[in-house]
Amino acid sequence: MPAVNDAFNNDDSVLGRFLTTAAHLMLYAIAVIAVARLPYYLGIDHWAVGFGEFVATLLVLVGVMHNVHRRLCVRCMQEVPTDPSGRVQRQHRVLWFNHELATTRGILVYIGLVVGGGLSIRVFGLPRAAHLPIDAAFVTSLYSMWLHHRLRPWCPYCRPWDDDDAIEEPSPDPVVKATR
Ligand SMILES: [Zn+2]
Ligand SMILES: [Zn+2]
Repeated sequence: MPAVNDAFNNDDSVLGRFLTTAAHLMLYAIAVIAVARLPYYLGIDHWAVGFGEFVATLLVLVGVMHNVHRRLCVRCMQEVPTDPSGRVQRQHRVLWFNHELATTRGILVYIGLVVGGGLSIRVFGLPRAAHLPIDAAFVTSLYSMWLHHRLRPWCPYCRPWDDDDAIEEPSPDPVVKATR
């Protein structure tokens, strides 16, 4: 999408600078979304919480667009964890989850959980805490997008599609990578 490409990281325009800044607030926005669910579980419905969630959701949307339509930009690279190979090993399930969300089965299960779960809580009048697994899946999916974008060069689940020769490649050495 050229329009999206041009919009991001175009430091000559105010909108470009704004979008770039907004996109890189994604991790904070995800944290806000997660924290904003706490009052909900406690039975507190305040407009300020709803407003905070709304703003955070907008920031996350800009962040998702940036992750999907841009390769790693300079700001994204600065956010790459200092020990990417170690981070991949520790959080490979999150990366796996991100790849699952790109499959038809993953999308169907995800939508079934989020929409079906949300509806059944209303229909059966379940306690608000029943929303917890749905929110956990939602927040994890957002975080997995953020993390995967930054760890893409190290992601073991990206490999099978681009090496037809099935070469077993070890994860790149972060020290060599950083000095290049
Ligand atoms: Zn970026
Ligand atoms: Zn991947």
